[in-house]
Amino acid sequence: MNGLMMDMPLLISSIVEHAEKVNGDAEIVSVTADNPRHRYTYREAFARARRLAGALSARDLALGDRIGTLAWNDYRHFETYYGAACAGYVCHTINPRLFPEQLVYIINHAEDRYVFVDPDFVALAEGLAAQCPQVQGWVVLCSEERMPDTSLPNAICYETLVAGGDAGFVFPTLDEQAACALCYTSGTTGNPKGVLYSHRSTMLHSLATMMPDALGIARRDVVLPIVPMFHVNAWGMPYACPMAGAKLVFPGNKMGDGATLAELINEEEVTLSAGVPTVWLGLLAHLKSTGARIDSLRRIVVGGAACPLSIMEDMDGYGVETRVGWGMTEMSPLGSANNSADRRDDYSPQEFARVRLKAGRPIFGVQMKIVDDEGAELPWDGEAFGSLKVRGPWICSSYFKLEGVDAHAEDGWFETGDVATIDPDGFMAITDRTKDVIKSGGEWISSIEVENVATDHPKVAEAAVIGQYHPKWSERPLLIVVRGPGGEDLTAQEMLAWFDGKIAKWWIPEAVEFADELPHTATGKVQKVKLREAYKDFEFPG
Ligand code: AMP
Repeated sequence: MNGLMMDMPLLISSIVEHAEKVNGDAEIVSVTADNPRHRYTYREAFARARRLAGALSARDLALGDRIGTLAWNDYRHFETYYGAACAGYVCHTINPRLFPEQLVYIINHAEDRYVFVDPDFVALAEGLAAQCPQVQGWVVLCSEERMPDTSLPNAICYETLVAGGDAGFVFPTLDEQAACALCYTSGTTGNPKGVLYSHRSTMLHSLATMMPDALGIARRDVVLPIVPMFHVNAWGMPYACPMAGAKLVFPGNKMGDGATLAELINEEEVTLSAGVPTVWLGLLAHLKSTGARIDSLRRIVVGGAACPLSIMEDMDGYGVETRVGWGMTEMSPLGSANNSADRRDDYSPQEFARVRLKAGRPIFGVQMKIVDDEGAELPWDGEAFGSLKVRGPWICSSYFKLEGVDAHAEDGWFETGDVATIDPDGFMAITDRTKDVIKSGGEWISSIEVENVATDHPKVAEAAVIGQYHPKWSERPLLIVVRGPGGEDLTAQEMLAWFDGKIAKWWIPEAVEFADELPHTATGKVQKVKLREAYKDFEFPG
C-alpha cells in the first residue's frame, strides 16, 4: 500500500519559489570586476534569474542543452546557475585553471551551446573559441558599459541578455531526475570526466549539507563560499543558502586574497565559510601580519584536501571552529563531516587533536564501507584500512556520455580511490589514495602526464611523481628520476627547465630527487605506495 502524500518533484525551481516568498529580503553580496561590493536581495537575484531563463528559452535551445560558465563566485554566476537549470538546461561550470587543451576538450565534450565568461577570462576564451565551433554565443558577465572589445564570435553582453528576458517567465515542471548541472573532474588517467547532477540529487544533497552536524546552515548565518562555484557547485552552498535564507557573500576573483577575505568577514559579519586548506593559510597570514580579527566568524569547513592541525589551532585562537569535510566531485560533493568540536570536552587534548583531523562521520544519505584487496569488508575499528567505497542518492552512477559504463564497481558501490580507516564512532580518516594524482591547492595534477613529459627527456630512463606534503599547497609534486645512459650529468635544474612550456606552470614538480631504481610490481608498474613510504620524510626546501 502506498502512502497518500503529494508527489511533488524535487526541482531547483522550488528553491527559487521558496526563497522569493520566504527569504526574499536576505542579501547576496559580491565582489565583481565592475563593483567591489555589489549588493542586492534574493528577491532581486531570482527576478533576474527568471529573466535569464526566459532569455535562454527564447533562443534555439532544447531541454537538457548545456550552458557553460567560466566564472568566479559572484551574483551573475549565481543567477546563471538558476536561470539555466530552472529553464531545463544544464549549468556546466568549467574550471578556468585548467589549461587550454583541457578546456577545449571539456567544452566540446559537453557540447556547450553558450558559454558565460567573466571579463577576467575573455582573453582565455578568445584563445579557445575557434576550436569550439558548436558554441553559438559567448556571454560576457558584465554591464554594457564594461563590455570589452573582443574577438569572441557572437559575443553577448550578459546584462543585455537578462534585460531582454521575460520577467514573467514560468519555470517548466521538469522531471526531478532531469540533469541540472555538470562538472568535469580531471587528474586521473585519460580525459576529464563529466559528473552530471540531477535536480533530485542536488536538492537532496543541499538539504543534507544544511544539517547541524554537516555544514550546519541556518537563516541567521552569513555564508562566505570561498570554494569556487566551478568546483562541485561550491559544495552546494549556492543552493543550500537560499533554502535556509542565509545571507551569501561571494568573494569574486579575490578568493585567494587574505586581506579581502578578512574585510568581507568583518564588514558583512560572516559567520560560516568553506574552502580548501590553502585559502585559510592566506587568511591566517594576513591576520597574523596585521593583527586583524575575525570575530563574527563561528565556523569554517575545510575540505578538498587534508587540513593541517596548525590551521585548526590557529583558528581556535580566533574563536573559530574548524570542521573537516570530505567528499568528491562525484559525490556532489559532501560525504562526511567532522563534528568532533561539539564534543570537545569529551576528549583529552591529545585525543581531540587526533580525532579532529579525521575526515569525519558519514552524513545521513551517504553509506560507506572499507574493503581489502579481495573486496572483503573491513571492520570499523580505526585500525584496518582499505579502499573506501560509498553509495547514496547524490553519488554518480556513471559519467556523462559514458552511460554504458558504471562509475561504480559491479557491487553498486562507488570506488572513491581513497584509502581509509573508520573507527567505532564512525569517524573516517583518509590514510592514502589508490588513484594516482596529486592535489595542489585544491586542484588536481595528473602524475601520469608529468611523468610522460619527464620520461621524454633523453637523459631519463624512468621517472615517477608523487604528491608530497607541502605547508602551503597541501601537496606538491616530487619527481623521482632514474638517470639513463649518458645522463650522469643530468641535474635537477636541467630537469625542471625541461617542463617549461610543456605543462601548466603549477604542474611543474616542486623538486627533483635522483634514485638508482624505482620499486616495481610484478607487472612492471611503479609501486607508488613504496615510493611514498621511501620519501615520507622528504621536505621541500623552504
Ligand atoms: P574532488 O573531486 O576534486 O573534490 O576531489 C576529491 C578528492 O579530494 C577525494 O577523493 C580525496 O582524495 C580528496 N579529499 C577531499 N576532501 C579531503 C579531506 N578532508 N581529506 C583528505 N583528502 C580529501
